[in-house]
Amino acid sequence: MLHAKGPLLTIDLTERTTTRTDIDDLLAETIGGRATATHLAHDRIPFDADPFGPENRLYLSTGPLQHSRMSFTGRMNMTALSPLTDGLLSSNAGGYLSRNFTGTGNSVVEFVGESDELLAVHVRDDGVTFEEVPELDGALVPEVSEYAEEHYDLGPDNCVTIGPAGENLVRFASAMTFDSRAFGRGGLGAVLGAKNVKLVTFDGDAEQSVEVPADAAAEVHRAAATADDSMKRQGTAGGTEFINDNFSLPTRYFEEYEFEHAADIGGDAVEEKKYKKAACSQCAFACKLPTRDEASGVETEGPEFETIFSFGSSQGVGDLVEIMKANELCDQYGMDTVSAGVTVAAYLASEDEFGNADLAQELTEQIARREGVGDLLAEGVHRAHDELGVDDMTMKGMEFAAHDGRVLHGLGLQYAVANRGGDHLYAEMMGLTYGGVIDAEGTVDKVETLIEQENYCAFRDSGVVCAFSGQYIDEDAFEALFDADYDELLAVGEGVVARERHFNNRRGFDRGNDELPYDLPEIDAALDAYYDAREWDADGTVPDARFDSPSTAAPADD
Ligand code: SF4
Repeated sequence: MLHAKGPLLTIDLTERTTTRTDIDDLLAETIGGRATATHLAHDRIPFDADPFGPENRLYLSTGPLQHSRMSFTGRMNMTALSPLTDGLLSSNAGGYLSRNFTGTGNSVVEFVGESDELLAVHVRDDGVTFEEVPELDGALVPEVSEYAEEHYDLGPDNCVTIGPAGENLVRFASAMTFDSRAFGRGGLGAVLGAKNVKLVTFDGDAEQSVEVPADAAAEVHRAAATADDSMKRQGTAGGTEFINDNFSLPTRYFEEYEFEHAADIGGDAVEEKKYKKAACSQCAFACKLPTRDEASGVETEGPEFETIFSFGSSQGVGDLVEIMKANELCDQYGMDTVSAGVTVAAYLASEDEFGNADLAQELTEQIARREGVGDLLAEGVHRAHDELGVDDMTMKGMEFAAHDGRVLHGLGLQYAVANRGGDHLYAEMMGLTYGGVIDAEGTVDKVETLIEQENYCAFRDSGVVCAFSGQYIDEDAFEALFDADYDELLAVGEGVVARERHFNNRRGFDRGNDELPYDLPEIDAALDAYYDAREWDADGTVPDARFDSPSTAAPADD
């Protein structure tokens, strides 16, 4: 089975020391990316760890395909204990970082401990250096990139950066790369903030040690280059009106299911503002959306569909330029646009201020700086909803994505059991529903599909392959790329889901944490069937015996 190569580099931020560990056996078993990081995190982060404590560990990892020039592979994985969900969580970002990361020769970089001074950490193929950077205290993400260019002659594609939100431990702070690409969901930027790491740079010329089957990779690349797909023009924004008209676009903090201004903020409107093509590293699909509004001067990348929802319909804002401004603020301050937008929407609901875009942007900055009511909102909807007097529209503490589980029941079930909570990319149930492959209604009949989808996504995140590759890499192509049976690849994904779940179980999560804030038909029977098919216990826990001897525990003095 094709897998990533290179050692695990452990960076102890307290001691400012590093160690390299041979993890070839683990990589051969887990491919790379999310699976390898999840295995290490499960075995090395104490089950009772504080997400903001030095004992939490944060992992950056690539898969084998980052050693290729194939489309859909400009991606990186990040894993840690999440301050938003309080569970183990992996997030995935595009851009150009993955190639610079593989240039350092490592397959996984692990951060442990915490620095007493704000740090930049430089990872190169010939070693690691630490540099105190008090002058970057409170700097916006683009300011950090400018600093990196000026001081180290490195671009934003070499950098992982946090903004003020990460430094201020906003529970949905993102870690940014390439200024506009985010390890968005789950607050992993705040984990770096707690460790006092403002900037990590990756740079080197290590030999690319993985040989990806050239014919299979070329086939995928050709398909990406020649595809006639609206995503290439409009990105995910292109689905806005179709989803609004045929399913649901949650509106005014989930009070309504349809937004009257969907056309004003949807794919055509975004395409009008798009001023050039953009992609992640090596990707011929090029679905990114650099946009500019000449009248106001606002320039950003996006908004993607999720932000059109979170800062648009969810807040009752039907002006695309206002959504672009909010999108740019989130990128600059380093915050997940979904959680930030939905949390602001919850506040607007509590104050009867839907449609007030100026207030929404003011609140966005207040959250990042934890000023005024922003300090409460920085905790996210789950922790703030009582004080705001609104419903808790989250799953495992994570604000729901745009796709509506109340209407797409298969997705609702996905949200319920997902170890990551209310995130749409944990499986692909929404895409199957929009595409007519499965019905919108019903839960029990979708359990088998959901399990296969969860395993597929976890394997795909280990590859590491972009979520938008679905139509262009089929089972045969995966088998050819990874030199393995598809079932073998799905088994890697199954291991990821089970390990995440087991870790969370040991933190106290069980069936009670799989309860949605709304009803779905036969949801209890669906949960029973899901746990049974996964061979978990009826209370939603993974039997301890499966993971009772950690194979990759940290050395005792680590
Ligand atoms: S499909 Fe889009 S998001 Fe995915 S790697 Fe290519 S450019 Fe990046």
